Amino acid sequence: MRVIAETEKSDIATVYIAEFGQGKYLEFVESTQPPIPREKKWVLIVSTLFGCPIGCKFCDSGWQYFGKLSKHEILQQIDYMVAKRFPRREINIDKFKIQFSRMGEPTLNENVLNVLEEFDQHFKARNFIPSLSTVAPIGRDNFFARLLNIKKRKYDDTFQLQFSIHSTSYAQRDKIIPVKKMNFEEIAKYGENFYSGNNRKITLNFALFKDAEVDVNIISKYFSPEIFLIKLTPVNPTAASKNNNIVSEVFSNSNVLNLVRQLEALGYDVILSIGEMEENKIGSNCGQYITNFLKMRQKFDDAYTYQLIFTNESS
Ligand code: SF4
Repeated sequence: MRVIAETEKSDIATVYIAEFGQGKYLEFVESTQPPIPREKKWVLIVSTLFGCPIGCKFCDSGWQYFGKLSKHEILQQIDYMVAKRFPRREINIDKFKIQFSRMGEPTLNENVLNVLEEFDQHFKARNFIPSLSTVAPIGRDNFFARLLNIKKRKYDDTFQLQFSIHSTSYAQRDKIIPVKKMNFEEIAKYGENFYSGNNRKITLNFALFKDAEVDVNIISKYFSPEIFLIKLTPVNPTAASKNNNIVSEVFSNSNVLNLVRQLEALGYDVILSIGEMEENKIGSNCGQYITNFLKMRQKFDDAYTYQLIFTNESS
């Protein structure tokens, strides 16, 4: 792995671009959540595929696909960021979270599971929080079964799982995430087995775009508020969302506030994850992918505005 560039210095996030030979590139990110200091919470976001074959309509990762990362290639991204701050690989942070969600649908790569199995052989972390976000493609039963097994054995209290469903209309969900997916009954059943009462509730994520259908009756029909929480995020400004005319919902609009009120009345915990505008400028938010943005060379006022500093570090 050769890190060829990183975004200019920021207290919020840094995106690294790495080359793996044969024209394969990926990105990984480290971030904090101000005002929480880094010693209290540090989040690494790593790629699991070279590109992504799913092609969600607002994600810049889904334009091309060059295969899965090996276990070693996933570990290399983690090690690069850890070694800069903790050369002994002993991570002394109150909450050290790794999201397997930068580039690529993680359930398409079983090496994610191999990394989860072996993590403690490579790093010592006081409080390691693995986090996986999936659009729930079908045909990945073996992956999901093994994930459940690893979570119960090693991360029962800490694992964070998110299903990104984006719409309660199957037709709209199919438009945004254009592959065959688990239905709501299947997601609910898996979540019920996964949740142990000790770890964070399973997240149902909706990236709210204008005209997104989010029906609280459908949510409550399938998903218990005892097991699932609802996270509402904006659609981040990406080249893909711009090209597909997907416009983010404004979070101060009355329909969003009404939605939150209705969900809370039904007993759901609701996270309004608006995020730092600065993260859009850096390009570190979900779905943003600097490398493809550079190829497409589109103009944004509010995204991808940080300078890239070119480096030449191998690991
Ligand atoms: S959002 Fe995730 S699953 Fe969808 S194209 Fe992007 S990386 Fe792939």
